[in-house]
Amino acid sequence: MTFTTPPRPLDAEAFFPGLAAHRATATRLHPRAGGPTARDSHVGGPLLWPTGEPWPVCDEPHRYGGPLLAVAQLYARDVPDLAPGPDGCDLLQVFWCPFDLHGPTGYGMHVRLRWRRSAEVREVLAPQPQPGRVGFDGYVPEPCVLHPEQVTEYPYIELLTGELGERVQEWEDAQEEAAYEAEGGDEGEEAAAWPSYQSDLSVAPGWKAGGHAAWNVTGPGRMDCPGCGHAMRLLLTVDSYEWRSDSESWRPRPTGAGAGAGADANRPTGVAVGNFGKLNVFACPQDPAHPHRFSVQ
Ligand SMILES: [Zn+2]
Ligand SMILES: [Zn+2]
Repeated sequence: MTFTTPPRPLDAEAFFPGLAAHRATATRLHPRAGGPTARDSHVGGPLLWPTGEPWPVCDEPHRYGGPLLAVAQLYARDVPDLAPGPDGCDLLQVFWCPFDLHGPTGYGMHVRLRWRRSAEVREVLAPQPQPGRVGFDGYVPEPCVLHPEQVTEYPYIELLTGELGERVQEWEDAQEEAAYEAEGGDEGEEAAAWPSYQSDLSVAPGWKAGGHAAWNVTGPGRMDCPGCGHAMRLLLTVDSYEWRSDSESWRPRPTGAGAGAGADANRPTGVAVGNFGKLNVFACPQDPAHPHRFSVQ
């Protein structure tokens, strides 16, 4: 089965030639229910984790101290926009704590990433540790296989500056007004007829590697490396939905064997982060071994 994002409703660079300089590719992961193994890229399956290596536990001070949940793993060979790992590592493994009890507020999530060289793993740990208790069901992913697809993205609208930013914002406002008038006040229904930069041209919804980050909740924030101060890049997005009512145009078309049942599910992983939003994970482009940063949107 393959998933293909429909062509964008209009050519963003033809409308706004200045966007070409900000073009980036992202790899949409298109997770769908399946039975992944430790040798696959996946969400919610067994990790390529060697026997004899301690499984990560939550070390934040909330008296849990249990195993972290395995969220996903991505092999570089499957995900073209996965940023290179440190020291020849080709496999990114993602964990989080099953409780919302972290950080300065005491209600934040705790995410951990682990890079490894897959060729060095001989015997895979089985069975793998599972938390005995889970604070929030939205942290427990359903096993999914991935159907990666590369797409083109442009920056989040509020990050476009100068004349380009003004032109895009003016066009965006005009589109919104036109859609509103066409529909007599009801948003959404006619959205397809009046594409918007924000919803249809800039940042793809759903799980993805690389590309541009969306900042719908907080507005753009600076993400500088805690290790060296360099501006960080988006490494991975974990999304509660593969598309939403305002991003229907990104709904992929499934083809091939198995393209029927479940292919259209837009919450295939069952994962929910933030207020059914997304988690953006940032990495340092200077040195991928530097600490990651996270933003819930
Ligand atoms: Zn924890
Ligand atoms: Zn750095």
